[in-house]
Amino acid sequence: MRTRLTPLRWRMEEAQVDGLVVTNLVNVRYLTGFTGSAAVLAVTGDGAVLTTDGRYRTQSAEQVQGPVEVAVGGLEAQRTAVRDLVGAAARVGLEADHVTWNGSRRWAELLEGVDVVPTSGLVEALREVKDEEEIELMARAAAIADAALGEVLPELAPGITETAFAQLLDSAMRRGGAEGTAFETIVAAGPNSAKPHHRPGDRVVRRGDAVVVDFGATYEGYRSDMTRTFCAGGEPEGELARVFDVVRDSQAQGVAAVRAGVAAKDVDAVCRRVIDEAGWAERFEHGTGHGVGLDIHEAPTVSPLGTAILAPGMIVTVEPGVYLPGTGGVRIEDTLVVTEDGGRPLTAFAKTVAVN
Ligand code: ZN
Ligand code: ZN
Repeated sequence: MRTRLTPLRWRMEEAQVDGLVVTNLVNVRYLTGFTGSAAVLAVTGDGAVLTTDGRYRTQSAEQVQGPVEVAVGGLEAQRTAVRDLVGAAARVGLEADHVTWNGSRRWAELLEGVDVVPTSGLVEALREVKDEEEIELMARAAAIADAALGEVLPELAPGITETAFAQLLDSAMRRGGAEGTAFETIVAAGPNSAKPHHRPGDRVVRRGDAVVVDFGATYEGYRSDMTRTFCAGGEPEGELARVFDVVRDSQAQGVAAVRAGVAAKDVDAVCRRVIDEAGWAERFEHGTGHGVGLDIHEAPTVSPLGTAILAPGMIVTVEPGVYLPGTGGVRIEDTLVVTEDGGRPLTAFAKTVAVN
């Protein structure tokens, strides 16, 4: 954990700040191990202090060690501790993507005489590349999700509602050791499957429906993300059968394109080309994928706008989809660790189509 402050200080130097106030709790967790719901971390070239309130006195002492000091107290005491550390800095960065308008004014008042400036993505850039321990936790989250789907898939049959299946899946993940879901589970049946982010409702699964199941588990803060699309009651027919084939092909080619040194937007282009050639360019309206870690969506972005070059240790999803209003949609998603030789899938569940 202590090693994470060193690369952060390199980033701070690049951003030309000699102090940084970290207010995003996920970033605080990443840098210190503290998992409470209220904290601020202040960092300078040679010091770091985490401030929190009395509810977290014991927890912060247990979780935060090494070079990070802990200051517990009321709001004033916490602010004083931050000012004591960064008040002598010339330029202090605030996390522009997370601090509110009012928050930035309060910090500027507190740090009167210091040049308070916005910074963006300093910690997020570090989080982009996972270490071995993080990869291990994400593999565990993905394995819990895989096992849960295997356990409840026999229940995905004509007659069950989207909500009922989502609940079965969520509780199977809990039983399997997840501390929670990675995000709100998506189960979308029939025409609902044509809505990429449908919320499960009382729609009953019918024979011949495409059923999109997009879900993940959280394990020690790290999240998994996987989508499988099934056809209830047998093999898909007509146009839907072609959608399944095209998306499977697009996703397989995208997975094969993942490798260190490849531009994230090129992985997107590979997936998109297959769907374009099938005549459905307008039916694939989202990016191909995203980074995953402590957050379900994090850097890098895998889309036509993505600027990242994939590097070993990045973890990204590949999840193209085709959505035909009225007919149904298909999305297939895996989460992969980028290596020099290619993408190593963390999600392993079979891409079976016909169920029950
Ligand atoms: Zn997903
Ligand atoms: Zn995803």
